[in-house]
Amino acid sequence: MLFPATIAGSLPKPSWLAEPNKLWPQWKLAGDELAAAKLDATLLAVKLQEDAGIDIVCDGEQSRQHFVHGFLDYVDGIDTKTKVEMGIRADRYKAMVPVVRGALTLKGRMHQSEARYARAHTKKKLKITLPGPMTIADTIADAHYGDKVKMAFAFADLLNQEARALQADGIDVIQFDEPAFNVFMDEVPGWGIDALHRAIDGLTCTTAVHICYGYGIKANIDWKNSLGSEWRQYELIFPALANSRINQVSVECINSRVPLKLLSRLEGKDVLIGVIDVATDEVETPERVAQVIDDVMKVVPKERIVACTNCGMAPMRRDIAEAKLKALGAGAALARQRFG
Ligand code: ZN
Repeated sequence: MLFPATIAGSLPKPSWLAEPNKLWPQWKLAGDELAAAKLDATLLAVKLQEDAGIDIVCDGEQSRQHFVHGFLDYVDGIDTKTKVEMGIRADRYKAMVPVVRGALTLKGRMHQSEARYARAHTKKKLKITLPGPMTIADTIADAHYGDKVKMAFAFADLLNQEARALQADGIDVIQFDEPAFNVFMDEVPGWGIDALHRAIDGLTCTTAVHICYGYGIKANIDWKNSLGSEWRQYELIFPALANSRINQVSVECINSRVPLKLLSRLEGKDVLIGVIDVATDEVETPERVAQVIDDVMKVVPKERIVACTNCGMAPMRRDIAEAKLKALGAGAALARQRFG
């Protein structure tokens, strides 16, 4: 099928589960009630995607507080009690981050509950996202490894354990989120891709990497405004990605200043193109979605195009995110009809 639709990963959480419109929301429940509510929200997220005509659905990241810290909760060797301030993404934000104080090991499965629950309730292809090793290493302080790359590879080993288990749970697509690739471009060919390869080692399911310019929060919007009239970060990392063993690359397109011709450098990869902007509440029309697909078809073979969102929708209003999901599904269908 041409132009299958999927999302970058997250959807807003219902207000009975967590504080709305926040990137780091507090849970509203605890213990067994929280565990059950996360699964209820997962089911809802899957259903909303199915009804919107999304072909490769996700759990909507309903079970994690934040895309990196939801992962760190399951890792031993991390001191989460004494957080330290760190400038992350080359000082774009200051954040209070936990500290690695010992060898990293997994406490257990991270996403087993929601992955199996979603798998049991949908016949669609199912995707689960994990943070990428470079992005994790840029979101935590190190007092043990003494070397960012060494620490990133230790995280990659843990990601690989979870990814293999997710594959065994019946997950079709495992995606690693690497916004840090757009910040430390010279480190991507150096070790970023190698760390991803470690994370996907032994996987036979589809693998993806999502590289964006961040959620629609103020720090990111200010950063984007400082990047000039053309965003060419992708140009520096796409050749290494094209040569990698990753199957799919998820990128920003709509309303971004990425010159679309750069996408031609992802030869041989499925390209998940952002046709939905997560930095504005204005809901795209199906016509606009189809237009972006048409524009990208000039540089990427249409068989390789997947319609996607620019980034996660976690901090958005639910009604807007739902309307955007519908626009995504309808726009991909329109493009199929028009260009199929
Ligand atoms: Zn993103």
